[in-house]
Amino acid sequence: MEAQILPVDGWRKVVHFTDDETGLNAIISIHDATLGPGCGGCRIFPYASFEAGLEDVKNLSRGMTFKNALGGIPFGGGKAVIFADAKKDKTPELIKAFARAVDSLEGLYYTAEDSGVTEHDIEMMQTVTKYAAGIGKDGVGGNPSPFTARGVWRGIQAAARHKFGAESLKGLRVSILGVGAVGMELARLVHEEGGELVVADVNEQAVKEACERFGATAIAPEDAVAQDVDIFAPCALGGAINPDTIGRLKAKVVAGAANNQLKTREMDKELHDKGVLYAPDYVINAAGVISVGLEIQGTWTKKELSRRIDKIGETLTEIFKRADEENRPTGEIADIMALEVIARGKETA
Ligand code: NAD
Repeated sequence: MEAQILPVDGWRKVVHFTDDETGLNAIISIHDATLGPGCGGCRIFPYASFEAGLEDVKNLSRGMTFKNALGGIPFGGGKAVIFADAKKDKTPELIKAFARAVDSLEGLYYTAEDSGVTEHDIEMMQTVTKYAAGIGKDGVGGNPSPFTARGVWRGIQAAARHKFGAESLKGLRVSILGVGAVGMELARLVHEEGGELVVADVNEQAVKEACERFGATAIAPEDAVAQDVDIFAPCALGGAINPDTIGRLKAKVVAGAANNQLKTREMDKELHDKGVLYAPDYVINAAGVISVGLEIQGTWTKKELSRRIDKIGETLTEIFKRADEENRPTGEIADIMALEVIARGKETA
């Protein structure tokens, strides 16, 4: 295995790993390790070029620094990419070679699932390295989607309280774009609290299920953003709020599970200027990595995880209040608060 350190300004360590025998071509990027080892998933994706993969892993690892800091876990930001097609190229040898790469960093980086990496892959990695986490074993850890849904639900409650003075979601209208693993569970939670649902998905079966189970109204995906609702919850792909859709948005709250909900950074300010309360995506959807963090620390219990997830609502309330006080967009405030957590970590290091 060849390991080449890539000089990337502002990043703690970025290493390119190649292995002729197994065909491994991967980059592990640790953005910041002030609060602890870099922690974040590994993505398997057939990037068009080396540069495209490097750009992605740099951005993703930087995102994890902020996410972990505000998620309250003692980890820095890290992420990995494997240049491959998970459907065609993934072999046990490739996964184990990647695990050896992770192990060679001697604990500077903990890996977990992302697109293309399954619990089974993590299990295989664990035969090689102790720096892989994110699987359910003996009632500990496991599939993060229900945890993420609970965090988003807590975040929506916090936003509804802040924006509408609502003590519960009863009677509030919520538009969910994407009723997949997270969106469907979120729909259940909103429904059980008395919220009214409109749902959209390219998967008609999923829409049908949400309508049958939760009395939701079905709409076309392109109309989800323009619904006359109180809350818009993007739970499909990224970029739901973009220059083409923001003008059609009627909801006064944007709070959902999707990563990178805002297509551009400018959207943060535009939402603020429109009087829309935005729950920053990396704060509201952090439950999965919080679970992984507890798993690594050996402190995972259902009760402790629920407590930590419920704290997502409190953190968001803090962000909302400060954004009001300083008259700044919530995304900007979240970044500032994450940097403050890291700065405090530096002081005590
Ligand atoms: P999923 O694949 O189970 O669900 C996504 C749903 O969106 C699917 O039902 C899919 O059919 C639908 N969809 C895809 N493209 C669409 C489109 N153009 N219009 C309408 N619907 C579309 O994924 P998930 O695990 O539920 O994750 C949802 C989002 O939340 C993703 O952006 C993911 O990155 C993010 N997220 C998930 C977790 C987690 O724990 N699963 C954690 C953090 C962030």
